[in-house]
Amino acid sequence: MNTNPPNDLIIVGAGAAGLTAALGLAQSGWSLTLIGRADLKATARTVALFDGSLKLLQNLHVLERLRPDFAALETMRIVDDTGSLFRTPPVDFRASEIGLDVFGENIENRHLVAHLSDAVRAEKRITWIESQVVSAAYDEHAAHVTLEDGTQCSAKLVISAEGRKSLLRKAAGIETRHWSYPQVAMTALLLHDRPHREISTEFHTRQGPFTLVPLPSSDKGPNRSSLVWMMDPIEARRRERLDDEKLAVEMTRQSHHMLGKLRLEGPRSAFEMSGLVAQKFAQNRIALIGDAAHGFPPIGAQGLNLGMRDIAHLVDSLNGAQDPGAADVLARYDTARRTDVRSRVAGVDLLNRSLLAGALPVDFLRGAGLLALANIRPLKRMVMREGVMPRGPVPRLMQA
Ligand SMILES: Cc1cc2nc3c(=O)[nH]c(=O)nc-3n(C[C@H](O)[C@H](O)[C@H](O)COP(=O)(O)OP(=O)(O)OC[C@H]3O[C@@H](n4cnc5c(N)ncnc54)[C@H](O)[C@@H]3O)c2cc1C
Repeated sequence: MNTNPPNDLIIVGAGAAGLTAALGLAQSGWSLTLIGRADLKATARTVALFDGSLKLLQNLHVLERLRPDFAALETMRIVDDTGSLFRTPPVDFRASEIGLDVFGENIENRHLVAHLSDAVRAEKRITWIESQVVSAAYDEHAAHVTLEDGTQCSAKLVISAEGRKSLLRKAAGIETRHWSYPQVAMTALLLHDRPHREISTEFHTRQGPFTLVPLPSSDKGPNRSSLVWMMDPIEARRRERLDDEKLAVEMTRQSHHMLGKLRLEGPRSAFEMSGLVAQKFAQNRIALIGDAAHGFPPIGAQGLNLGMRDIAHLVDSLNGAQDPGAADVLARYDTARRTDVRSRVAGVDLLNRSLLAGALPVDFLRGAGLLALANIRPLKRMVMREGVMPRGPVPRLMQA
């Protein structure tokens, strides 16, 4: 068994959040250990990254690496496909309405993680141990983690970027609020006949959104999009049994043939929908970032963008600290994240439940809300800005 000398910082989890945090903290002067294995498997998952996340990646000098795999999102279209009595016409939100060229960029998860991994490997202040943490303990002065081969590492602060099932969070006794939805999200990468014209379209159905998001052309075809289709679990089980051709017919029908015929480019995935929020984002010698701190259904592309804001605020909170795990430093981070995280979690939950409710008064309120957004320009601009970046102090790494 090896026992390493205490570090200042350990990050556990080499997903998008852990890798980005490692870059952000290393480039702010911290030497750190990253523990985890990057998942580079081809999956049917993409992430839309908004303006603030793109500025963060630019400030970390990784944006140019990512560009070839990006597809721009200039317009976000919401189509009420609930069949409700109070159905409103489609509403387009254009980036130019809030002075942006694009709201953001969509990228396959595996490309994002691969490019971030390359950047991490090139960073001298990061020691990357490709292993798994199997247990953790905390005392007044340090956090201690044990790896699968028995190696032990200690640090003044451990940062959990391990996703929703965070072992470090549980070992620290941080409680979470956890809930589930009667929905499954089916995801796939699609080829189609007509170009997407940089428009992301969210069809709001009674079982949840059916969302098509632009992807760049590739050797597979010139017209590509990713799909997140939320549906009732019984429907999901039926569709999982369909062959690709039959499933593509149902997808094309649900898309109202907007992009012509849809075809599956590769395997599909399915995710049961749930929500989670930690009661605290930091306490004695541990800070939570990304899905270890919060998780919710993929509506409005908020998940990783919120995680990126965790990272930018954590870098600011640790700035100049003698002891990065000191109580006042962690209290600063916890306070900085409360409003943003709680308002996103509540907003996504409300929208999702309003679709599932199917009650006339709820339909009326949702329809009236969309109609107001379509017709009251200052309100529309405010909601768009809030979707891209919340009001309040902008962390240093998200400034231009
Ligand atoms: C269908 C779908 C679509 C989405 N679309 C968007 C979108 O468009 N925009 C957006 O912003 N967000 C989106 N999200 C959310 C986004 O994907 C997540 O917020 C993001 O992937 C979370 O990244 P993370 O690094 O925090 O966690 P994860 O990706 O879960 O990574 C955690 C990592 O930690 C590792 N790990 C776990 N435990 C340990 C351990 N004990 N030791 C070492 N390593 C460990 C895991 O193996 C993994 O590599 C979407 C989510 C879904 C499901």
